[in-house]
Amino acid sequence: MSDQPRYQPETLAVRAGQERSQFGEHSEALYLTSSFVFKSAAQAAKRFSGEEVGNVYARFSNPTVSMFEERLAALEGAEDCVATASGMSAIMALCLAHLKQGDHIVASNSLFGATVQLFNNILSRTGISTTFVSHTDPTAWEAAIRPETKLFFLETPSNPLTEIADIRVLSEIAHAKGILVAVDNCFCTPILQSPLALGADLVVHSATKYLDGQGRVLGGAVCGPKKLTEEVFKYLRTAGPTLSAFNAWVLLKGLETLKLRVEAQAANAARLAAWLEAHPKVARVFYPGLPSHPQHDLAKAQQKSGGAIVSFEVKGGREQAWAVVDHCQLLSITANLGDTKTTITHPASTTHGRISPEARAAAGIGEGLLRIAVGLEAVEDLQADLERGLSMID
Ligand SMILES: *Cc1c(COP(=O)(O)O)cnc(C)c1O
Repeated sequence: MSDQPRYQPETLAVRAGQERSQFGEHSEALYLTSSFVFKSAAQAAKRFSGEEVGNVYARFSNPTVSMFEERLAALEGAEDCVATASGMSAIMALCLAHLKQGDHIVASNSLFGATVQLFNNILSRTGISTTFVSHTDPTAWEAAIRPETKLFFLETPSNPLTEIADIRVLSEIAHAKGILVAVDNCFCTPILQSPLALGADLVVHSATKYLDGQGRVLGGAVCGPKKLTEEVFKYLRTAGPTLSAFNAWVLLKGLETLKLRVEAQAANAARLAAWLEAHPKVARVFYPGLPSHPQHDLAKAQQKSGGAIVSFEVKGGREQAWAVVDHCQLLSITANLGDTKTTITHPASTTHGRISPEARAAAGIGEGLLRIAVGLEAVEDLQADLERGLSMID
C-alpha cells in the first residue's frame, strides 16, 4: 500500500496487505499449500534463482503469511516484516541473523524468562555473550558496551512490574556506537507504542499474545527496514521456523480488532488499577497509567496509555496472594496474557519460580505480588471476583 494515502491504524488493521485471488474473495484466503507450481521449467528456474518474485515453497513464503506480514508492518510503521512460528523463534531469528561468534548483547535484566534462557543457555553456546543491566538506568547500558557489542535488546513495559525502559534514550546511546536496538513490543503492541518511531531498529513480537488476542495460536514477527529484515528472512528460509499459513490467517483476523481490543482492555485495566490502589488489602499497585508509577511521565510520553497489564502486591505473602487467586471464579489462573479473557498469575511461584528467592527479591518480585492481564469482561465483574479473595485477607 506504499503508493496509497497514509491510512490511520484502524484502516490499516482491516485493509493493509490484502491480496485478492482470481475469485474475488472479500475475506483473506487461507492458502493451505506447502509448495507452489510453475508454468514451465524456465519459470521454476527463475523463481528459485530469485530472478522472478513469487512463491516457491512455504518455508520461504506463503500468500496468507505475506498478508499478515504486510499488515503488521503497516501497523508498526515498518518497511518490512518477517513472520515466525512463535515469539521466541522471532528473537532467535533476529539474533542469529545479525550476530556471530564473539559478538555481545546488552539486554534488560527484566526480560521475558525464555528470552533470558535463550541468551544465557543457547546463544552463549555459539559464543554470543550477554550482559544484563538495569531496565531503567541508561547509564548502565552505556557502561556495559564493549567493542564487540552489536545489539541492545529490551522489552518495555517489563513483566510483571511494568517498569519502563526509555526507547529513545537507549537508541541514541546505541547508535552513537553503531549498535542495533531491538524492542520486544509484545505488551504495548503497535497500537500503544511505536518503537521504530522512537529510534529502535527492529521490533519483535510474540503474536501469540495481543495480536491473536483470543488465545488460539502461536506466532511471532520481526519488523524493521528491509536491509535488516532481509537477513532474518534468509535465516528463516534456511532454518525453517516460519509461521504456518493457518496461524497467519488467524492472526490476520486478530489484527483487524487489535485496536478495539487493546484500547478497551487498557481502559478496563486503568479502572481496575485505580480501584486496587484504593483497596485497604493492597499494599502497592504497579501500573504505568497511575500517577504513583515511578515512571509515569516517561510512560505517558512513550505509550498512548498504561496498557492492560496490572500487577499488585497484597498485604501479606504467598498465602494471602494464593488466597486471592484461589477465590477467583471468573479470572483464569494462567500465565498467558493478551487474551480477551482476564488472567491472573502469581509470578513468584510460576513465571519467575525458577529464579532463586534472593534474585527474585532483588528484582522486586515479592511473594505477595500478583499479575493480572486484563481482558474484555465488565470491570464490575472483575472487581467482584478479586474482592472475594481480597476480603479473606486479614
Ligand atoms: C510470550 C512472550 C514471548 C515469547 O513468545 P512465544 O510466542 O510464547 O514464543 C516473548 N516476549 C514476551 C514479552 C512475551 O510475553
